[in-house]
Amino acid sequence: MIKNIVKFLLTMIFAMFCDSRIEAHARTNFDAIKSVSLTQKNDLYSLNIEFNKKVAFVPRVHILPNGLQMFLSFKKPVNLPKMSKMNYGIVKGYFFEKFGNSSLMFIMALKQKVEFVKKKYTKNSIKISFRKKPTVIIDAGHGGKDPGTQSPYEKYLEKNITLITAIELRKALLRTNHYNVVLIRDKDEFVSLDDRIKRAKSENGDILISLHTDYNNDKNLRGISVYTLPPMGFGESDKEFNETLHKSKRFSKLLVGYIPNLCKIKHRTCRSSELKVLKTGMPSVLVELGCISNQKDSKLLLSKLFREKIICAILYALNQFFDKNKTGQQGQK
Ligand SMILES: [Zn+2]
Repeated sequence: MIKNIVKFLLTMIFAMFCDSRIEAHARTNFDAIKSVSLTQKNDLYSLNIEFNKKVAFVPRVHILPNGLQMFLSFKKPVNLPKMSKMNYGIVKGYFFEKFGNSSLMFIMALKQKVEFVKKKYTKNSIKISFRKKPTVIIDAGHGGKDPGTQSPYEKYLEKNITLITAIELRKALLRTNHYNVVLIRDKDEFVSLDDRIKRAKSENGDILISLHTDYNNDKNLRGISVYTLPPMGFGESDKEFNETLHKSKRFSKLLVGYIPNLCKIKHRTCRSSELKVLKTGMPSVLVELGCISNQKDSKLLLSKLFREKIICAILYALNQFFDKNKTGQQGQK
């Protein structure tokens, strides 16, 4: 019996010794990573990492709002991979780092916030797809020394209603996790029209929504209107302008389509006007949230519930415009 135990222990010690000997001999690290590549199809990116040897454990991937971090553990000591350049505008930088002897850490930083769509692991590869989140620029009309119009009934100012709605809209959009949101102003400040356009452009917006309230001498006139720029005059042609205008009109129609059912308010259709703030080079619409000069509308604009309905209509229109309905569940983490 004792003989057997001694034999067993000796075998164990011998095995351990051999193991460490083998370990020591195997210090010729291997190249674990076969290739790293990024492919792009429209707004969808796929990061592909292929391995020469199987990964020991399921890779641990941490998804960050604007990048990712990944731990890969292999069965043998590995070399630090040599990386080729990935020339994509969205990629800020990426690198591998050794983590112990046989693990690698991969970090990729992106210039924009993205929405992760799918992760797929096999023993020999990892595929992670993500897409750029559309940037929605919200422009709260007026501000600071420019109060806009005033409600003849409740005496509030347009600049405050547009700001409150802009902040509420931002909150609603961020909650979906589908959008980057930029507010042209988030406080009571004066911003010139030129500066509004400059800010929108510098943020690389995908759409601009300018918020205002209407005022009309006809006190009976009421409702929500959505404006886009008019088409270029006869003889003028600018392919880019027309394409952008076409998109603005598409969004405007979607939004106007949602208004009557959600807001129980008459809409005054899609209109066009030479509004300077819409000349941003990106799809842009101006929403008159209601007629401040009409008693009913004036009161409605003060109601959070009413504003929530308009915001809901804008959100639905955006989701349809940016095709977010299919990925709706994934974003709601
Ligand atoms: Zn206004």
